[in-house]
Amino acid sequence: MKIYENIVIGGGASGLMFTANLKNKEDTIILEHNNKLGAKIRVSGGGRCNFTNKNISTSNYLASSSFLKGLLREFGSQFIFEYFTNLGLKSTLKDGTQYFCKSSSKELLDLLLYQIKGAKIALNCKVLDAKKDGNIFEVSTTRGKYKAKKLIITSGGLSFTNLGATAIGYEIAKSFGHKIIATKPALVGFTLQPQDSFLKTLSGVSINVKIKVDKKELEGSMLFAHKGISGPVVLNASLFWNRGHLEINFLPKFDLKSIKNSNKNISNLLPFPKRVALAFLEKLEIRDKKATLLSKEDWSKLEELKYYKLAPAGTFGYSKAEVTKGGIATNEIKNNFESKLVDNLYFLGEVLDVTGMLGGYNFNFAFLSAIKCARNN
Ligand SMILES: Cc1cc2nc3c(=O)[nH]c(=O)nc-3n(C[C@H](O)[C@H](O)[C@H](O)COP(=O)(O)OP(=O)(O)OC[C@H]3O[C@@H](n4cnc5c(N)ncnc54)[C@H](O)[C@@H]3O)c2cc1C
Repeated sequence: MKIYENIVIGGGASGLMFTANLKNKEDTIILEHNNKLGAKIRVSGGGRCNFTNKNISTSNYLASSSFLKGLLREFGSQFIFEYFTNLGLKSTLKDGTQYFCKSSSKELLDLLLYQIKGAKIALNCKVLDAKKDGNIFEVSTTRGKYKAKKLIITSGGLSFTNLGATAIGYEIAKSFGHKIIATKPALVGFTLQPQDSFLKTLSGVSINVKIKVDKKELEGSMLFAHKGISGPVVLNASLFWNRGHLEINFLPKFDLKSIKNSNKNISNLLPFPKRVALAFLEKLEIRDKKATLLSKEDWSKLEELKYYKLAPAGTFGYSKAEVTKGGIATNEIKNNFESKLVDNLYFLGEVLDVTGMLGGYNFNFAFLSAIKCARNN
């Protein structure tokens, strides 16, 4: 049986970028579960792949900062933007920081597919397990066995099984003695407990809020959904939430004192669409009336909108989560992404316990980890 130099498990963002950056690709094979490469890249960012961000630091990640710091310092914030720009990718900036493909994700994917030319690809090839015999890895798949000197695990997380996700990366890591930090859906909406389910009646409306969660203060748009709450600020909050409550400021830029002397009804003065204002008033048991007629108690109830305690019932789950938080513990991984426990075994991208916020941080990490590893291959 042929012995490859590298077997890459998973043809997603990190698997493709790793292969693209190898000097010699001919002796590398990518084993991919799907019938095509880069499934998540294709659908990401609403079809335009938010592939990196202008501002990148460890504070944008849930990860060991000592593990991540060196990588981010070595490459800098602009590396991935310049990498693709130099290949000819046209991009556009959203909200001043997030780089998206100008036309479609396919453009970025095509650049990677062009760069991996020479490598072997096995599609519809689901990896079942891997073991090491002497210096050689043997990988069992639904399309037979493959052998290589180096095994690179780029199989991603657990979200979106319809895009090929499996737990194989964690299973192989465990079988080689690696510790796995408990995995959970992240960048995902929250389901609500009965006391907050009035928010579901506002389905379809977005408002700007601030959320405090686990020492982080996040600001952005919250979307009321029929299943619970979602929107960018909620998705980011899910990254840092484990259990317990979030503190939501529904009035982040609004001073209630500014409306105290108004003769207008309070539902017309609060900075929300009217049906949102009415739902909050009902929840707080305040009758809608002229601001000047509100009692002291009414005003102190309204203040609660700045410190609203919401304990999510849970999340929308892996089928809606953009990423998986947790994963292979990074204290057992060297800074070239090789296992500290097993020579020539590497882990890249989302399978590791490194998870980014919304904004291109997850692709950024998947790509940087892959480039760093390939340069040392
Ligand atoms: C809908 C959606 C939109 C997203 N949008 C963005 C965005 O705009 N910006 C951003 O930064 N991040 C985004 N993400 C997150 C981003 O896609 C991932 O963090 C990134 O793809 C991780 O790269 P990876 O190489 O680690 O894993 P993946 O890209 O997930 O690649 C893993 C590959 O391994 C394959 N695989 C899994 N199990 C097996 C097996 N047993 N055998 C063989 N192959 C296997 C999978 O089929 C897959 O092709 C989005 C995610 C989703 C789900």
